[in-house]
Amino acid sequence: MSVVREGGCACGQVRLRISGEPMMVHNCHCHQCQRQTGSTSVVNGFWESDNVEFLSGETREASLPGGSGNPHIIVSCAQCSSPLLSYYGRLGRLMSGVRAGALDEPGSITPDVAIFTLEKMPWVTLPEGIPAFDYYYDPREVLPEASLDRLRELGVRRKAGEG
Ligand SMILES: [Zn+2]
Ligand SMILES: [Zn+2]
Repeated sequence: MSVVREGGCACGQVRLRISGEPMMVHNCHCHQCQRQTGSTSVVNGFWESDNVEFLSGETREASLPGGSGNPHIIVSCAQCSSPLLSYYGRLGRLMSGVRAGALDEPGSITPDVAIFTLEKMPWVTLPEGIPAFDYYYDPREVLPEASLDRLRELGVRRKAGEG
């Protein structure tokens, strides 16, 4: 049995179930993430969207710029506006970046990388032991082979016209 996590929005209308471990977890300090969270940074765990199930509730979507300037889609609760997850450009809807804060146990995932640290709020201290990058990073230099395989698999599906 693989691990199962649940999560949802602040008002409780939207509930999520996520199976398996994330491919990677990003802590992004870009100014766009600061705007979109109202906080210092965002923590996103990335799963194949096939592993993310919406159990209840109505959501809405907004297309907004990410740190690279490319648009991404943020899925939020239609009622309370809590952000739940994002779909990013290259892999479209095949991959979900789930907000750690939307999980019932937000501490159950830990960032693999801190990114866009050149835009971080100056008083924020980055944790030791987590690789930090001025902007983005090369996944091949950081992520385990199993995660790279999962990413490649999604890339193949995307090229075939999915997502
Ligand atoms: Zn809600
Ligand atoms: Zn960001």
